[in-house]
Amino acid sequence: METTKNMYLSMGISEQVYEFGNQILEELKERFAAIDANAEYNQLKVLKAMQKNQVSEACLLGTTGYGYNDMGRDTLEAVYADVFHTEDALVRPQITCGTHALALALMSNLRPGDELLSPVGKPYDTLEEVIGIRPSKGSLAEYGITYKQVDLLSDGSFDYENIKKSINEKTRLVTIQRSKGYQTRPTLSVGRIGELIAFIKDIKPDVICMVDNCYGEFVEAIEPSDVGADMVVGSLIKNPGGGLAPIGGYIAGRKECVENAAYRLTSPGLGKEVGASLGVLPNFYQGFFLAPTVTAGALKGAIFAANIYERLGFGVVPNGSESRHDIIQAVTFGTPEGVIAFCEGIQAAAPVDSHVTPEPWDMPGYDAKVIMAAGAFVSGSSIELSADGPIKPPFAVYFQGGLTWQHAKFGILKSLQSLVNKGLVTL
Ligand SMILES: *Cc1c(COP(=O)(O)O)cnc(C)c1O
Repeated sequence: METTKNMYLSMGISEQVYEFGNQILEELKERFAAIDANAEYNQLKVLKAMQKNQVSEACLLGTTGYGYNDMGRDTLEAVYADVFHTEDALVRPQITCGTHALALALMSNLRPGDELLSPVGKPYDTLEEVIGIRPSKGSLAEYGITYKQVDLLSDGSFDYENIKKSINEKTRLVTIQRSKGYQTRPTLSVGRIGELIAFIKDIKPDVICMVDNCYGEFVEAIEPSDVGADMVVGSLIKNPGGGLAPIGGYIAGRKECVENAAYRLTSPGLGKEVGASLGVLPNFYQGFFLAPTVTAGALKGAIFAANIYERLGFGVVPNGSESRHDIIQAVTFGTPEGVIAFCEGIQAAAPVDSHVTPEPWDMPGYDAKVIMAAGAFVSGSSIELSADGPIKPPFAVYFQGGLTWQHAKFGILKSLQSLVNKGLVTL
């Protein structure tokens, strides 16, 4: 162990920060064991789906051009459908990111005159333009699709009374965001999502319930599709890509919903039949295979960060001891300097671009400057160790990822060292 400590010292971590971290870690053994047990279950779930669908060497080859009869692509979609326990899935490199996957799911399943409802408050920032909450070209609003929102109550619970009032004859689709995103509300457990869906379906059985599953995959043993969601949607440069997928998104759900999405992604009449996989299938398969353990490492990192910063008196969501339903950790520093110092530390811990200094910038899709720390193998990948913070009150930073727990640990210690070095924290 002495040599490991010397490695930390040689990589810019002070003895004090190192010891502080290890002291916190001592208290987390039981929780880490529970995370490993969940990863073990999910590993088998993915493996079982791969074996059942007879994933073979030929599935890794990929196609070019139109991509007709792309066996690897079609088999991968069957694997996703089995893991999420859905009728069908669309898993494509042509889905450029999570926002695109969500926009696709919404735009393909809503028609002019329909209404979209979010019963869990404001959706993720980039969705504001998709919906038209902030006016944008091509938004749902431009197509005559209206939007209603019911915020969570101040204690984080569902406002059932107003949700009921908001469901009307126009309500066609309900969007439920599992993760907190850039907010400090609690992330929803799959169990709570199930309760909400049951309540909504009781009022209107034919409404489509879609869950924005970003950052939630494999954190629990079940997914929202196991508790009644008609569609689960996410990004492959988050959990399910396992760090290896270089692009992509997925929609898993009821056959009709997935079909609608496929006809919108490619073209009416073509649907799932086209869309060459090019060379990405080995990464999609292998990434999905690794996703349960990669997610487990990220989860340990998030819990470690929560406990470190909670001990130092900062606001952390989730707190150090509560149960986890996504891999994001919010830490509220209350000052731009705190957010910036934290992100500089994460950047300095990266395997790629550790020598550069991140700066706040006007990112497309966001309404305030955002600072991002990401020294990733896949650009912008947030299953890799990364942090981002909008430069606006309450000056919270959102930390996530780490392809290995060991790297996440180092990153968090680096962030703490950065705050210590700037005099923003004293141990
Ligand atoms: C990341 C994320 C998105 C959008 O995904 P991008 O890949 O960044 O476009 C949407 N919703 C939630 C909750 C997310 O975390």
